[in-house]
Amino acid sequence: EWVNFVDFFDRIIDRFEMAKDQNVSFRRKLPSHAIFVEIDEDKMTQVLYNIISNALKYSPEGGQVTFSIKEEEEKIIVSVSDEGVGIPKENIGKIFDRFYRVDKARTRKLGGTGLGLAIAKEMVYVHGGMIWAESEEGKGTEVSFSLPYEQSEEDEWS
Ligand code: ATP
Ligand code: MG
Repeated sequence: EWVNFVDFFDRIIDRFEMAKDQNVSFRRKLPSHAIFVEIDEDKMTQVLYNIISNALKYSPEGGQVTFSIKEEEEKIIVSVSDEGVGIPKENIGKIFDRFYRVDKARTRKLGGTGLGLAIAKEMVYVHGGMIWAESEEGKGTEVSFSLPYEQSEEDEWS
């Protein structure tokens, strides 16, 4: 169905902000106008849930998580960045693989199966988008995905 992705994302962030029990602050960089995208709401909720859960799970005490939506010509780019432990360069290509977890020892205490991002990748592909991550060890991680978006004439002229 067609949804205003800005509102949709904002509401999901609200839910995480209300439920969080960590000292992590949220920053939103969202467009002030509506962006209508055709999505499966359940699948997209899962994508965002998996990405945001990781950002919180790997965030340090007092860290900041930033949520953004950028508009490009035929797509939007949705990003979630954190100030957490980061991911070593040599492992970053594998984090979207099933059951892959960086550094078993480090992540053991945090739990998880290593399926979150593999599921997110599959769901993003179903929507015709791409997903990727950029990270600097010790500084933080940014996970982004694209969604095809056809700017309608109404959008252009209003
Ligand atoms: P699950 O999501 O199934 O509970 P998980 O979080 O370990 O388990 P994924 O979400 O698929 O699995 O992530 C794969 C691995 O990528 C993680 O184990 C972690 O090592 C790394 N990773 C993912 N997101 C981040 C992040 N924001 N910061 C640092 N490492 C991350
Ligand atoms: Mg996860």
